[in-house]
Amino acid sequence: MTSPLQEFLKQRHAAFKTDDSGAVADYIPELTKANPAHFGASLATMDGHVYEIGDSAVPFTIQSISKAFVFALALERLGQERVEKAIGVEPSGEAFNSIRLTTDNRPFNPMVNAGAIACSGLIHHAEGNGAFELIHETLSRFAGRKLDIDDDVYLSERATGDRNRAIAWLLHNYDVLKCDVDGVLDVYFRQCAVLVTARDLAVMAATLANGGRNPVTGEQIISPYVVSRTLSVMTSSGMYDYAGEWIYRVGIPAKSGVGGGIIASLPAQLGLGTFSPKLDDHGNSVRGLKMCEALSSHYGLHVLSRA
Ligand code: GLU
Repeated sequence: MTSPLQEFLKQRHAAFKTDDSGAVADYIPELTKANPAHFGASLATMDGHVYEIGDSAVPFTIQSISKAFVFALALERLGQERVEKAIGVEPSGEAFNSIRLTTDNRPFNPMVNAGAIACSGLIHHAEGNGAFELIHETLSRFAGRKLDIDDDVYLSERATGDRNRAIAWLLHNYDVLKCDVDGVLDVYFRQCAVLVTARDLAVMAATLANGGRNPVTGEQIISPYVVSRTLSVMTSSGMYDYAGEWIYRVGIPAKSGVGGGIIASLPAQLGLGTFSPKLDDHGNSVRGLKMCEALSSHYGLHVLSRA
């Protein structure tokens, strides 16, 4: 017999699949090749059970969702003081690729490109040439399996990433990036091109929900302190310039990426991963957003309604 949760995922998947609105990201040329029909979702619980529906095993690039995990890694490795000195935690209210910094010349938060590049910079500064390997290995431990990299997306973003270069040089100008700018950008472009599935995202989100312990492999990856800070910035800044609406309507810490993925992480309860490449005007996956909204309202999951 199918469980009620599996049945819920199946019904909503069928309903939202018919929504054909939005557009596949096109500012990285290689992303235009995504199949707009793809739609998958997966939900992982704290006991390590993983539910899946639709195209939950189709790989796509993690893009900005990596920012949450790389921020967590920076906090874990370098400590709160170093990271907070370099990067703020204030929502910017602007697009993810905004070049504007705070009045004290720091990135607004680690979920926008400036903050994410600064995070990759901190790790590069500490680890040198081993920075990407460490990030890759950490993302893989969150997912519970060795993740691949999409070299075509990496090269495509590297070839067209002048806006991110401009951000990185601005950070260099203000001493937020203290090392080899091209090396840091290379780490950032590669981390965005790591391939995940909706199932991977569910396990990664569930690891955050589970205090940093992967509920499938049992491995403790980051400390509960780091989890709480990571979920905090996801709550305030995880959904581009829709973050305020998101926390008001859905009420679950989340992060999305232009590859069409979304993670939603409900502490002590579950991790949700969705994938559908067509994005709305804010850059969030249309069908993924609907799936998160439906789950939250059907099961009453808004974090603040549970107080
Ligand atoms: N690689 C992308 C960029 O920096 C990430 C964008 C995103 O997913 O928001 O432009």
